[in-house]
Amino acid sequence: MIAPRIEIDLGKIEHNTRSLTERLDARGIRVLGVTKACLGSPRVAAAMLRGGAAGLGDSRVENLSRLGIENEGASRTLIRSPMLSQASRAVRTANVSLNTEPAVIAALDEAARRMGIRHGVILMVELGDLREGIVADEIPAAVRAVLQRRSLVLIGLGGNLACQSGVIPADANMDVLHRLVDRTEIDHRIRLHTISGGNSANLEWALTTNRLERTNELRIGEAILLGTDPLNRAVIPGLHGDAFTLVGEIIERAAKPGQPWGHRAQSAYGEPPRRTGRGSVRQAIVALGRQDVDIDGVVPPAGITLLGMSSDHLVIDVGDHELAVGDEVRFGLNYGSLVRAMTSPFVTKVERAAPHPDGVVPSVLHAGTALSG
Ligand SMILES: *Cc1c(COP(=O)(O)O)cnc(C)c1O
Repeated sequence: MIAPRIEIDLGKIEHNTRSLTERLDARGIRVLGVTKACLGSPRVAAAMLRGGAAGLGDSRVENLSRLGIENEGASRTLIRSPMLSQASRAVRTANVSLNTEPAVIAALDEAARRMGIRHGVILMVELGDLREGIVADEIPAAVRAVLQRRSLVLIGLGGNLACQSGVIPADANMDVLHRLVDRTEIDHRIRLHTISGGNSANLEWALTTNRLERTNELRIGEAILLGTDPLNRAVIPGLHGDAFTLVGEIIERAAKPGQPWGHRAQSAYGEPPRRTGRGSVRQAIVALGRQDVDIDGVVPPAGITLLGMSSDHLVIDVGDHELAVGDEVRFGLNYGSLVRAMTSPFVTKVERAAPHPDGVVPSVLHAGTALSG
């Protein structure tokens, strides 16, 4: 079969979504399924919706455009502030967007007015992680700015933690968001529909706090796709950690000395990885490189060790495995490596639905653009 490829188990993605939506539903929180790590794959999005996601979110208008007719009825949220230059496209592809900038808000209003529609705005509040967000003192002015716009609807307020600085979501920082919700509703005599509490890093807080207050939405990508909690990267109990598998093919298999010889300087990517051991190594080269994946997030099968990766070669110690040229090796992925592999034009995407009762596993191939070009 074609390699390298990333195998995507849609049944596991659906299961992970259902498991999380059931737990969060019990706490009054709905889930926005975030598709950005899968580049807005329509079938991944559909699996999230089958699993109970209330809507879809993505950081890029290109990905939202890809979601296609199969997900037509679903609400679509642009979860990165729209580029000023993309305001029209943002309004066309998303019915809601997360916002922080007055100039962008004005452009969205203008674009929506021209199209004769209304666009939903969630204002993002800076809660301490120092990525996107309006500082709390400036929220009242931003609220007024949205409420004045005839073609915009203020849907609610939101926050995002743990992405830039690793700040852990907790009662203290989430309370800043909740107090702003209270103040906004009193000052303007409105009711905010959505309090979008955060991403997968908010799960632990959302499932355990007794001060959930008005948070009623989480935007979840990683925990659905990889089953992991971004705060510690451990698989959440009850979820599948192996919905994605990267498969590479061996192109050289040889016993090589434990240590390189000759005077040494930098390697292709800076400091060469340290090889340990003196004897000989049962080495293989897999046709996978940094153009396909980030080596730091590649998880080899038990008994196989990663020895290093350059642009196109992954060197492994196969240990006791009996592997030959042409054999395939299957790797797990962390979030960074998943994003890189999904984005690489060299990696073919194979999406598998849940097995049929008669044992047939339907699958769809998406060849990389480099392969089909
Ligand atoms: C990526 C992103 C998410 C989803 O994050 P996960 O950790 O994948 O759940 C949610 N909100 C925003 C603003 C994001 O950029």
